[in-house]
Amino acid sequence: MGGFGSGFRGTAKATTRDRHRLSVKDWGNLPPGARAIWNITRGGWQDLGSVHVCVEADALALTYTPPNGSPIEQWIDIERAPCRFSGSRPWFLCPWCGRRCGALYRGRGGFYCRECAGLNYQSTREPPDTRAVHKADRIRARLGWPAGIAFGHGPKPKGMHWRTFWRLVAEHDRHAHAFMEGSMARLDKAHERLLRCGR
Ligand SMILES: [Zn+2]
Repeated sequence: MGGFGSGFRGTAKATTRDRHRLSVKDWGNLPPGARAIWNITRGGWQDLGSVHVCVEADALALTYTPPNGSPIEQWIDIERAPCRFSGSRPWFLCPWCGRRCGALYRGRGGFYCRECAGLNYQSTREPPDTRAVHKADRIRARLGWPAGIAFGHGPKPKGMHWRTFWRLVAEHDRHAHAFMEGSMARLDKAHERLLRCGR
């Protein structure tokens, strides 16, 4: 029965406890081109799917196949941050929220940081910046403005207090700003990835 790192020559070693998580200590320092297949089980017998890992320069390309499910492909960026005295250590960037983390955990749609893996699946289906634009649209609907932050501000609805109006406008702008920042960051990432693939 294949465990963590089966069919793989390297330093990655498994403990039973580690079966459902990818640790950057095991996977962050492998040479590009290394590959591994990892069969996930519960209790050593219940099949929870398999993960194919392909080590890229500063990234892992994962293909997670849940039992009776179709494969999910994930690209996990690895960031190297300087250590206090010398050298650097790798971190995974959570493919959902982009935060640095030392390990990724199996969630319903793939591998994420502990927080994202534990969140309710429905509420994490959309990236954070898409959620921001939906929040902005909900406020726009309340104000009677057309959906879509590209339309900018509209007038104050009749009968609404000015104070309420300005509070909603400020909240709207905060979500709109979060959306712009998030989508710019995603575009940058996509661009970087394209450049890397073109090499
Ligand atoms: Zn996350």
